[in-house]
Amino acid sequence: MKYIVCEKPGEFLLKEKEAPVRKEGEALLKINKVGICGTDIHAYGGNQAFFSYPRILGHELASEVLEIGENARGIKSGDKVVVMPYVSCGKCIACRNGKTNCCTNITVLGVHGDGGMQEQITVPADILLPANDLSNDQMAIVEPLAIGAHAIRRANIKAGETVVVVGCGPIGIGIMKLAQIEGAKVIAVDMNDQRLAYAKDKIGVDYVVNAGNDPAAAISEITNGDMATAVFDASGNKFALEAGPSYMSHGGRFVLVGLSKGELTYTHPAVHSKEMTLMCSRNATTEDFEHVISVLDQFPTESYITHNVPFTDMIANFDSWCDPATGVMKATVDF
Ligand SMILES: [Zn+2]
Ligand SMILES: [Zn+2]
Repeated sequence: MKYIVCEKPGEFLLKEKEAPVRKEGEALLKINKVGICGTDIHAYGGNQAFFSYPRILGHELASEVLEIGENARGIKSGDKVVVMPYVSCGKCIACRNGKTNCCTNITVLGVHGDGGMQEQITVPADILLPANDLSNDQMAIVEPLAIGAHAIRRANIKAGETVVVVGCGPIGIGIMKLAQIEGAKVIAVDMNDQRLAYAKDKIGVDYVVNAGNDPAAAISEITNGDMATAVFDASGNKFALEAGPSYMSHGGRFVLVGLSKGELTYTHPAVHSKEMTLMCSRNATTEDFEHVISVLDQFPTESYITHNVPFTDMIANFDSWCDPATGVMKATVDF
């Protein structure tokens, strides 16, 4: 079978190997479609921390079951399944408290172990969710949307709140739509007018603010001086992360979804006077995946997937997907 491996930073190779053989407790899957994530782009760019090469990337997977044994969800061969790509240990303090998303021993398919850029893969059967009603396009975007669903659940977003989401990339766009589904008003902030236009036109956010135009003043005007009761950062940009609390109301929460590399600095009185709740949001749990699957028909999948190619064309196209100026939101690859 064919597979694509990231041999070293900046180099993919299309290769051939034996198909994997299913072991007890595993499922053998045929991969139909793989979504390309920021993680894959960083791995290819060589700026993903703790990454080892060669590595088969890909963790946003639309797949169907070729072989499976007895399993708790009653999944059978021939079923379409969404893969939850986080393999947790079930034993550590986080897992014992139900926070499998931040397991101390977490293994993410396509990051710590090989992922789905291959025609077939074996995975633990218990990371699969049945998805016979979803299209391959929908299945491939469940994982990035589940990241957003987890962030929203962390912040316990309620109807009627006004939230700010900084960053209109694939994760931020997911947070915006899912916050709206909870009944929140959404203010989108980004530097890129093309992405702000997407948030306005396709997601239907209530307000868009260009990050270059004093966003704190704009958010103050929109909220009559209250500011946003929750601010999500989906940019991972140090400047944006440090500005985030200034968009937040007194008594608000600031949710870090995007990841920056270094230190962040806050002036203590500024965040103390607001009694800021600072929370990080990492990965997602089964509950988040199930929630996304239940609301996915409200999401504009067709416009969110901006690029799609057969796997034989992926290597030639990948460089262009690393540049937001090409208008890429989510690229996908058919296997
Ligand atoms: Zn992803
Ligand atoms: Zn664990």
